Amino acid sequence: MNILVMNCGSSSLKYQLIDMENERVLAKGLCERIGIEGSLLTHTPAGGEKMKFPAPMPSHKEAIRMVLDALINPNHGVIKSAEEISAIGHRVVHGGTYYSESVLIDESVKQAIRDCFDLAPLHNPANLMGIEACEAAMPGKPNVAVFDTAFGMSMAEKVYLYALPYEYYEKYKLRRYGFHGTSHGFVSSEAIKFGGLDPKNAKVIVCHLGNGASVSASIGGKCVDTSMGLTPLEGLIMGTRSGDLDPAILQFICKHENLSIDEMLNVLNKKSGVLGLSGGVSSDFRDIDDAANAGNQRAAVALQAYTYRVAKYIGAYVAAMNGVDAIAFTAGVGENDATMRKNICSYLGYLGVEIDDERNHVRGELRLISADSSKVKVFLLPTNEELAIARDTLRLAGK
Ligand code: AMP
Repeated sequence: MNILVMNCGSSSLKYQLIDMENERVLAKGLCERIGIEGSLLTHTPAGGEKMKFPAPMPSHKEAIRMVLDALINPNHGVIKSAEEISAIGHRVVHGGTYYSESVLIDESVKQAIRDCFDLAPLHNPANLMGIEACEAAMPGKPNVAVFDTAFGMSMAEKVYLYALPYEYYEKYKLRRYGFHGTSHGFVSSEAIKFGGLDPKNAKVIVCHLGNGASVSASIGGKCVDTSMGLTPLEGLIMGTRSGDLDPAILQFICKHENLSIDEMLNVLNKKSGVLGLSGGVSSDFRDIDDAANAGNQRAAVALQAYTYRVAKYIGAYVAAMNGVDAIAFTAGVGENDATMRKNICSYLGYLGVEIDDERNHVRGELRLISADSSKVKVFLLPTNEELAIARDTLRLAGK
Protein backbone atom coordinates (compact mmCIF):
# COMPACT_ATOMS: atom_id res chain seq x y z
CA MET A 1 0.00 0.00 0.00
CA ASN A 2 1.49 3.36 -1.07
CA ILE A 3 0.92 6.60 0.80
CA LEU A 4 1.68 10.00 -0.72
CA VAL A 5 2.93 12.48 1.89
CA MET A 6 2.52 16.17 1.13
CA ASN A 7 4.02 19.24 2.77
CA CYS A 8 2.80 22.42 1.06
CA GLY A 9 4.15 25.90 1.55
CA SER A 10 2.74 29.01 -0.11
CA SER A 11 4.99 28.58 -3.17
CA SER A 12 6.35 25.08 -2.63
CA LEU A 13 5.22 21.47 -2.38
CA LYS A 14 7.38 18.69 -0.94
CA TYR A 15 6.32 15.08 -1.44
CA GLN A 16 7.32 11.52 -0.70
CA LEU A 17 5.69 8.34 -1.93
CA ILE A 18 6.15 5.62 0.71
CA ASP A 19 5.48 1.90 0.32
CA MET A 20 4.00 1.02 3.72
CA GLU A 21 4.66 -2.73 3.34
CA ASN A 22 8.28 -2.00 4.22
CA GLU A 23 8.15 1.76 4.94
CA ARG A 24 10.46 2.36 1.98
CA VAL A 25 10.53 5.71 0.13
CA LEU A 26 9.76 5.02 -3.55
CA ALA A 27 10.30 8.60 -4.73
CA LYS A 28 10.52 12.09 -3.35
CA GLY A 29 10.67 15.59 -4.66
CA LEU A 30 9.93 19.26 -4.50
CA CYS A 31 7.98 21.79 -6.56
CA GLU A 32 9.40 25.28 -6.13
CA ARG A 33 8.27 28.73 -7.21
CA ILE A 34 4.60 27.74 -7.55
CA GLY A 35 2.70 30.80 -8.76
CA ILE A 36 5.97 32.57 -9.60
CA GLU A 37 7.98 32.79 -12.82
CA GLY A 38 10.46 29.89 -13.13
CA SER A 39 8.49 27.03 -11.46
CA LEU A 40 10.53 23.84 -11.13
CA LEU A 41 9.88 20.23 -10.13
CA THR A 42 12.81 18.23 -8.77
CA HIS A 43 11.98 14.52 -8.67
CA THR A 44 14.15 11.71 -7.29
CA PRO A 45 13.12 8.07 -7.64
CA ALA A 46 14.63 5.77 -4.98
CA GLY A 47 18.17 4.84 -5.97
CA GLY A 48 17.95 7.11 -9.04
CA GLU A 49 19.30 10.43 -10.14
CA LYS A 50 17.72 13.75 -9.17
CA MET A 51 15.75 15.06 -12.18
CA LYS A 52 14.69 18.63 -12.84
CA PHE A 53 11.54 19.56 -14.79
CA PRO A 54 10.95 23.26 -15.35
CA ALA A 55 7.29 23.98 -16.26
CA PRO A 56 4.73 26.66 -15.49
CA MET A 57 2.84 25.95 -12.24
CA PRO A 58 0.41 28.83 -11.66
CA SER A 59 -1.08 27.03 -8.63
CA HIS A 60 -0.77 23.90 -6.45
CA LYS A 61 -3.22 22.18 -8.83
CA GLU A 62 -0.71 22.18 -11.71
CA ALA A 63 2.05 21.26 -9.25
CA ILE A 64 0.16 18.14 -8.11
CA ARG A 65 -0.46 17.16 -11.73
CA MET A 66 3.29 17.46 -12.40
CA VAL A 67 4.04 15.30 -9.36
CA LEU A 68 1.56 12.60 -10.46
CA ASP A 69 2.96 12.68 -14.01
CA ALA A 70 6.47 12.21 -12.64
CA LEU A 71 5.37 9.35 -10.36
CA ILE A 72 3.66 7.42 -13.19
CA ASN A 73 6.08 8.30 -16.01
CA PRO A 74 7.20 5.08 -17.79
CA ASN A 75 10.89 6.14 -17.65
CA HIS A 76 11.46 7.72 -14.26
CA GLY A 77 8.16 6.88 -12.53
CA VAL A 78 7.75 4.36 -9.71
CA ILE A 79 4.08 3.34 -10.12
CA LYS A 80 1.91 2.49 -13.13
CA SER A 81 -1.04 4.74 -12.31
CA ALA A 82 -2.39 7.02 -9.59
CA GLU A 83 -4.62 4.08 -8.60
CA GLU A 84 -1.57 2.67 -6.80
CA ILE A 85 -1.74 5.57 -4.33
CA SER A 86 -4.03 4.48 -1.49
CA ALA A 87 -4.24 7.73 0.46
CA ILE A 88 -2.62 11.12 0.91
CA GLY A 89 -1.24 12.41 4.21
CA HIS A 90 -0.89 16.19 4.61
CA ARG A 91 1.27 18.09 7.03
CA VAL A 92 -0.97 20.83 8.46
CA VAL A 93 0.73 23.33 10.72
CA HIS A 94 -2.11 24.52 12.95
CA GLY A 95 -5.09 22.55 14.23
CA GLY A 96 -5.91 25.12 16.93
CA THR A 97 -7.80 23.61 19.85
CA TYR A 98 -9.80 21.45 17.43
CA TYR A 99 -7.44 18.52 16.97
CA SER A 100 -5.24 16.60 19.36
CA GLU A 101 -4.57 13.88 16.81
CA SER A 102 -4.53 13.26 13.08
CA VAL A 103 -7.88 13.12 11.29
CA LEU A 104 -9.48 11.97 8.04
CA ILE A 105 -10.29 15.13 6.08
CA ASP A 106 -13.89 16.13 5.34
CA GLU A 107 -15.58 19.51 4.91
CA SER A 108 -15.64 20.19 8.67
CA VAL A 109 -11.89 19.53 8.94
CA LYS A 110 -11.21 21.93 6.08
CA GLN A 111 -13.35 24.54 7.83
CA ALA A 112 -11.36 24.06 11.05
CA ILE A 113 -8.09 24.50 9.10
CA ARG A 114 -9.61 27.71 7.67
CA ASP A 115 -10.64 28.85 11.15
CA CYS A 116 -6.96 28.61 12.14
CA PHE A 117 -5.69 30.87 9.32
CA ASP A 118 -5.28 33.65 11.86
CA LEU A 119 -3.04 31.48 14.03
CA ALA A 120 -0.79 30.35 11.15
CA PRO A 121 -1.27 32.89 8.35
CA LEU A 122 1.75 31.74 6.34
CA HIS A 123 1.17 28.00 6.59
CA ASN A 124 -2.49 26.98 6.97
CA PRO A 125 -3.74 28.62 3.72
CA ALA A 126 -0.97 26.80 1.81
CA ASN A 127 -1.75 23.51 3.56
CA LEU A 128 -5.42 23.85 2.59
CA MET A 129 -4.49 24.66 -1.02
CA GLY A 130 -2.50 21.40 -1.13
CA ILE A 131 -5.44 19.42 0.24
CA GLU A 132 -7.88 20.92 -2.26
CA ALA A 133 -5.44 20.36 -5.14
CA CYS A 134 -5.13 16.67 -4.17
CA GLU A 135 -8.91 16.31 -3.91
CA ALA A 136 -9.24 17.75 -7.42
CA ALA A 137 -6.45 15.62 -8.92
CA MET A 138 -7.39 12.35 -7.17
CA PRO A 139 -11.13 12.50 -6.49
CA GLY A 140 -12.45 10.02 -3.95
CA LYS A 141 -9.07 9.21 -2.39
CA PRO A 142 -8.84 9.59 1.38
CA ASN A 143 -6.83 12.58 2.61
CA VAL A 144 -5.53 12.75 6.19
CA ALA A 145 -4.43 15.88 8.09
CA VAL A 146 -1.49 15.48 10.48
CA PHE A 147 -1.20 18.57 12.64
CA ASP A 148 2.07 20.01 13.89
CA THR A 149 0.23 21.28 16.96
CA ALA A 150 -1.53 17.99 17.87
CA PHE A 151 1.30 16.66 20.08
CA GLY A 152 1.17 19.78 22.30
CA MET A 153 -2.55 19.45 22.95
CA SER A 154 -1.95 17.11 25.91
CA MET A 155 -0.27 19.94 27.86
CA ALA A 156 -2.11 20.84 31.07
CA GLU A 157 -3.86 24.20 31.47
CA LYS A 158 -1.17 25.42 33.89
CA VAL A 159 1.40 24.77 31.14
CA TYR A 160 -0.37 26.10 28.06
CA LEU A 161 -1.96 29.27 29.48
CA TYR A 162 -0.08 32.57 29.22
CA ALA A 163 -0.35 34.77 32.30
CA LEU A 164 -2.48 37.29 30.40
CA PRO A 165 -6.04 38.46 31.04
CA TYR A 166 -8.04 35.23 30.68
CA GLU A 167 -10.45 36.87 28.23
CA TYR A 168 -7.75 36.70 25.52
CA TYR A 169 -7.75 32.96 25.80
CA GLU A 170 -11.54 32.88 25.72
CA LYS A 171 -11.83 35.29 22.78
CA TYR A 172 -8.88 34.27 20.61
CA LYS A 173 -7.65 30.92 21.97
CA LEU A 174 -4.32 32.59 22.72
CA ARG A 175 -2.28 29.85 24.38
CA ARG A 176 0.87 27.82 23.93
CA TYR A 177 0.41 25.17 21.22
CA GLY A 178 3.95 24.05 20.38
CA PHE A 179 5.21 23.07 16.94
CA HIS A 180 7.41 20.34 15.40
CA GLY A 181 4.84 18.07 17.08
CA THR A 182 5.05 15.35 14.43
CA SER A 183 8.80 15.17 14.96
CA HIS A 184 8.60 15.25 18.78
CA GLY A 185 5.92 12.55 18.78
CA PHE A 186 7.89 10.34 16.39
CA VAL A 187 11.24 10.73 18.16
CA SER A 188 9.85 10.26 21.68
CA SER A 189 8.03 7.05 20.73
CA GLU A 190 11.06 5.72 18.81
CA ALA A 191 13.28 6.52 21.82
CA ILE A 192 10.96 4.46 24.03
CA LYS A 193 11.07 1.54 21.56
CA PHE A 194 14.81 1.72 20.86
CA GLY A 195 15.74 2.25 24.50
CA GLY A 196 13.44 -0.54 25.74
CA LEU A 197 11.77 1.98 28.08
CA ASP A 198 8.41 1.65 29.83
CA PRO A 199 5.89 2.68 27.12
CA LYS A 200 3.45 4.15 29.67
CA ASN A 201 5.76 5.96 32.08
CA ALA A 202 9.05 6.73 30.32
CA LYS A 203 10.13 10.35 30.77
CA VAL A 204 11.73 11.55 27.55
CA ILE A 205 13.16 14.91 26.51
CA VAL A 206 13.51 15.48 22.77
CA CYS A 207 15.80 18.24 21.47
CA HIS A 208 14.72 19.02 17.89
CA LEU A 209 17.62 21.23 16.85
CA GLY A 210 17.28 22.30 13.22
CA ASN A 211 17.03 25.70 11.62
CA GLY A 212 13.91 25.98 13.78
CA ALA A 213 14.48 24.44 17.19
CA SER A 214 12.37 23.24 20.09
CA VAL A 215 12.53 20.94 23.10
CA SER A 216 9.74 18.75 24.42
CA ALA A 217 9.12 16.78 27.59
CA SER A 218 6.83 13.77 27.42
CA ILE A 219 5.72 10.95 29.67
CA GLY A 220 4.80 7.71 27.92
CA GLY A 221 4.84 9.61 24.60
CA LYS A 222 2.33 12.25 25.81
CA CYS A 223 3.54 15.84 25.73
CA VAL A 224 3.93 17.49 29.14
CA ASP A 225 5.59 20.67 27.89
CA THR A 226 7.23 21.99 24.76
CA SER A 227 9.21 25.14 24.14
CA MET A 228 7.42 26.78 21.21
CA GLY A 229 4.26 28.72 21.99
CA LEU A 230 1.41 30.41 20.16
CA THR A 231 3.89 30.66 17.29
CA PRO A 232 7.27 29.02 16.65
CA LEU A 233 9.00 32.16 17.98
CA GLU A 234 9.02 31.15 21.66
CA GLY A 235 11.66 29.05 23.36
CA LEU A 236 15.14 28.21 22.12
CA ILE A 237 17.52 30.45 20.24
CA MET A 238 17.24 29.29 16.60
CA GLY A 239 18.95 29.93 13.27
CA THR A 240 17.19 33.27 12.77
CA ARG A 241 14.56 33.37 15.57
CA SER A 242 15.23 34.99 18.91
CA GLY A 243 13.31 32.55 21.10
CA ASP A 244 12.33 33.79 24.59
CA LEU A 245 12.82 37.46 25.38
CA ASP A 246 11.36 40.28 27.45
CA PRO A 247 8.30 41.49 25.46
CA ALA A 248 9.06 45.08 26.44
CA ILE A 249 12.02 44.90 24.05
CA LEU A 250 9.53 45.16 21.17
CA GLN A 251 8.33 48.58 22.22
CA PHE A 252 11.88 49.78 22.91
CA ILE A 253 13.22 48.80 19.48
CA CYS A 254 10.09 49.91 17.60
CA LYS A 255 10.44 53.34 19.20
CA HIS A 256 14.18 53.76 18.74
CA GLU A 257 14.47 52.20 15.26
CA ASN A 258 11.13 53.54 14.03
CA LEU A 259 9.80 50.09 13.15
CA SER A 260 6.22 48.88 12.84
CA ILE A 261 5.16 45.82 14.84
CA ASP A 262 5.24 43.74 11.62
CA GLU A 263 8.78 44.90 10.89
CA MET A 264 9.74 44.11 14.47
CA LEU A 265 8.36 40.58 14.17
CA ASN A 266 10.34 40.19 10.97
CA VAL A 267 13.48 41.09 12.95
CA LEU A 268 12.61 38.52 15.64
CA ASN A 269 11.81 35.77 13.10
CA LYS A 270 14.34 36.38 10.35
CA LYS A 271 17.25 38.43 11.67
CA SER A 272 17.80 37.21 15.22
CA GLY A 273 18.92 33.87 16.66
CA VAL A 274 22.52 32.83 15.99
CA LEU A 275 22.46 34.97 12.85
CA GLY A 276 21.80 38.08 14.92
CA LEU A 277 23.97 37.09 17.88
CA SER A 278 26.96 36.33 15.65
CA GLY A 279 26.81 39.84 14.18
CA GLY A 280 25.42 38.51 10.88
CA VAL A 281 27.86 35.63 10.20
CA SER A 282 25.17 33.09 9.24
CA SER A 283 22.08 31.21 10.41
CA ASP A 284 23.75 27.94 9.42
CA PHE A 285 25.59 26.20 12.24
CA ARG A 286 28.31 24.92 9.89
CA ASP A 287 29.27 28.54 9.10
CA ILE A 288 29.00 29.58 12.74
CA ASP A 289 31.20 26.62 13.78
CA ASP A 290 33.80 27.55 11.12
CA ALA A 291 33.79 31.22 12.15
CA ALA A 292 34.11 30.34 15.85
CA ASN A 293 36.99 27.95 15.07
CA ALA A 294 38.67 30.73 13.10
CA GLY A 295 38.57 32.96 16.18
CA ASN A 296 35.36 34.97 15.61
CA GLN A 297 34.34 35.83 19.16
CA ARG A 298 30.73 36.79 18.30
CA ALA A 299 30.20 33.41 16.61
CA ALA A 300 31.70 31.65 19.65
CA VAL A 301 29.33 33.48 22.01
CA ALA A 302 26.35 32.72 19.72
CA LEU A 303 27.14 29.01 20.06
CA GLN A 304 27.57 29.33 23.82
CA ALA A 305 24.23 31.15 24.17
CA TYR A 306 22.48 28.54 22.01
CA THR A 307 23.94 25.65 24.03
CA TYR A 308 23.09 27.32 27.33
CA ARG A 309 19.44 27.89 26.33
CA VAL A 310 18.97 24.23 25.37
CA ALA A 311 20.55 23.08 28.65
CA LYS A 312 18.33 25.49 30.60
CA TYR A 313 15.19 24.04 28.99
CA ILE A 314 16.33 20.49 29.67
CA GLY A 315 16.79 21.44 33.35
CA ALA A 316 13.31 22.96 33.46
CA TYR A 317 11.77 19.86 31.90
CA VAL A 318 13.54 17.51 34.29
CA ALA A 319 11.91 19.55 37.08
CA ALA A 320 8.51 19.48 35.31
CA MET A 321 8.61 15.66 35.06
CA ASN A 322 10.50 15.05 38.32
CA GLY A 323 13.15 13.14 36.41
CA VAL A 324 14.15 11.96 32.97
CA ASP A 325 14.90 8.51 31.53
CA ALA A 326 16.15 9.48 28.09
CA ILE A 327 17.23 12.51 26.09
CA ALA A 328 17.14 12.35 22.27
CA PHE A 329 18.83 14.71 19.82
CA THR A 330 17.34 15.14 16.36
CA ALA A 331 17.10 17.40 13.23
CA GLY A 332 19.93 19.10 11.29
CA VAL A 333 22.09 20.29 14.20
CA GLY A 334 21.05 17.54 16.64
CA GLU A 335 21.84 14.78 14.13
CA ASN A 336 25.05 16.21 12.67
CA ASP A 337 26.85 18.26 15.29
CA ALA A 338 28.63 16.00 17.79
CA THR A 339 30.32 18.95 19.51
CA MET A 340 26.98 20.66 20.13
CA ARG A 341 25.51 17.47 21.64
CA LYS A 342 28.56 17.05 23.85
CA ASN A 343 28.52 20.71 24.96
CA ILE A 344 24.81 20.60 25.83
CA CYS A 345 25.31 17.41 27.82
CA SER A 346 28.28 18.91 29.65
CA TYR A 347 25.68 20.95 31.63
CA LEU A 348 23.92 17.77 32.73
CA GLY A 349 26.49 16.19 35.06
CA TYR A 350 24.09 16.73 37.98
CA LEU A 351 21.72 14.25 36.30
CA GLY A 352 24.46 11.66 35.92
CA VAL A 353 24.54 12.15 32.13
CA GLU A 354 27.78 10.83 30.61
CA ILE A 355 28.46 11.00 26.88
CA ASP A 356 30.67 8.33 25.30
CA ASP A 357 32.86 10.29 22.87
CA GLU A 358 33.36 7.37 20.52
CA ARG A 359 29.63 6.60 20.32
CA ASN A 360 28.90 10.31 19.90
CA HIS A 361 31.28 10.51 16.92
CA VAL A 362 28.46 9.82 14.45
CA ARG A 363 26.07 11.63 12.11
CA GLY A 364 22.47 10.96 11.15
CA GLU A 365 22.29 7.45 12.58
CA LEU A 366 20.07 6.01 15.30
CA ARG A 367 22.45 5.31 18.15
CA LEU A 368 22.94 5.36 21.91
CA ILE A 369 25.58 8.03 22.53
CA SER A 370 25.75 7.89 26.33
CA ALA A 371 28.16 5.71 28.28
CA ASP A 372 26.89 2.47 29.85
CA SER A 373 27.44 4.10 33.26
CA SER A 374 25.26 7.13 32.36
CA LYS A 375 22.19 7.48 34.62
CA VAL A 376 20.16 8.84 31.68
CA LYS A 377 20.19 7.28 28.21
CA VAL A 378 21.11 9.76 25.48
CA PHE A 379 20.27 8.99 21.85
CA LEU A 380 20.96 10.41 18.44
CA LEU A 381 17.63 9.68 16.78
CA PRO A 382 17.04 10.93 13.23
CA THR A 383 13.58 12.39 12.86
CA ASN A 384 11.31 11.28 10.02
CA GLU A 385 8.22 13.47 9.86
CA GLU A 386 7.16 12.05 6.48
CA LEU A 387 7.14 8.51 7.84
CA ALA A 388 5.19 9.64 10.91
CA ILE A 389 2.60 11.29 8.61
CA ALA A 390 2.45 8.15 6.43
CA ARG A 391 1.93 5.91 9.48
CA ASP A 392 -0.98 8.04 10.73
CA THR A 393 -2.46 8.16 7.22
CA LEU A 394 -2.27 4.38 6.93
CA ARG A 395 -3.89 3.96 10.36
CA LEU A 396 -6.79 6.29 9.49
CA ALA A 397 -7.27 5.61 5.80
CA GLY A 398 -5.71 2.20 5.16
CA LYS A 399 -8.08 -0.35 3.60
P1 AMP B 1 16.86 21.23 9.57
O1 AMP B 1 16.05 22.46 9.79
O2 AMP B 1 16.52 20.10 10.49
O3 AMP B 1 16.91 20.80 8.13
O4 AMP B 1 18.36 21.63 9.95
C1 AMP B 1 19.10 22.50 9.14
C2 AMP B 1 20.28 23.03 9.90
O5 AMP B 1 21.12 21.95 10.35
C3 AMP B 1 21.22 23.86 9.02
O6 AMP B 1 20.81 25.20 8.98
C4 AMP B 1 22.53 23.72 9.73
O7 AMP B 1 22.64 24.79 10.63
C5 AMP B 1 22.44 22.45 10.54
N1 AMP B 1 23.44 21.46 10.10
C6 AMP B 1 23.38 20.62 9.06
N2 AMP B 1 24.52 19.87 8.99
C7 AMP B 1 25.31 20.26 10.00
C8 AMP B 1 26.63 19.90 10.47
N3 AMP B 1 27.34 18.96 9.87
N4 AMP B 1 27.10 20.54 11.55
C9 AMP B 1 26.40 21.50 12.16
N5 AMP B 1 25.17 21.89 11.78
C10 AMP B 1 24.63 21.29 10.72
